[in-house]
Amino acid sequence: MSARKTPPVHPDLESVLFTEMQLKRRVRGLGRELKEIYGAGEFTIISIINGAVMFTADLMREIDNPVRLDCVRISSYGTKTKSTGVPQVVASLTLDIANRHVLLIDDILDTGKTLLLVTNLVRKLNPASLRTCVLLDKQGRREVPIEADLVGFKIPDKFVIGYGLDFAERYRNLPCIGVLKPQLQNPPAWA
Ligand code: 5GP
Ligand code: MG
Ligand code: MG
Repeated sequence: MSARKTPPVHPDLESVLFTEMQLKRRVRGLGRELKEIYGAGEFTIISIINGAVMFTADLMREIDNPVRLDCVRISSYGTKTKSTGVPQVVASLTLDIANRHVLLIDDILDTGKTLLLVTNLVRKLNPASLRTCVLLDKQGRREVPIEADLVGFKIPDKFVIGYGLDFAERYRNLPCIGVLKPQLQNPPAWA
């Protein structure tokens, strides 16, 4: 019998930055960091969708604190791979967060405009505290002064997909995070 080769995770990926196992391990670590911050206390998670869905779902299951969950939907990149224009709130919060401890979660911090927009929105609602957590941080790309309190991984300036992150709404369901092949980084026919 011939040796079986491991199939590539996805043919549209140029490379894999983080495997499913590496993501799991880091998310578990972030769960421990949250435990150090919040102890056994209650807090409200605000997830910036759609990108942060996978990360939020996995991180929530690493903690046993009493948590509430709400989401904000922010206008997306469309089919482009670079941040353009000003992000807009498409759907806002439904929970009352006044005097509550809030943890804001996003998939990736790039120019910083999205996180700044949402932190400003949340601050106006008078939370007891506000912390931010992103899975990925493209530090070199910042255009506005904002940093996250908790960061999963720092990454170089590459357009990444998978584990919630999309290109033209595709690839969110990849279990790993990788770099899309450059020849596919134009608006494709199916978009
Ligand atoms: P920012 O407002 O910081 O420029 O961008 C944040 C948002 O842009 C993220 O929530 C994410 O939706 C999107 N984004 C930024 N960089 C990437 C990337 O490399 N890949 C994907 N798929 N989305 C990105
Ligand atoms: Mg996003
Ligand atoms: Mg997107």
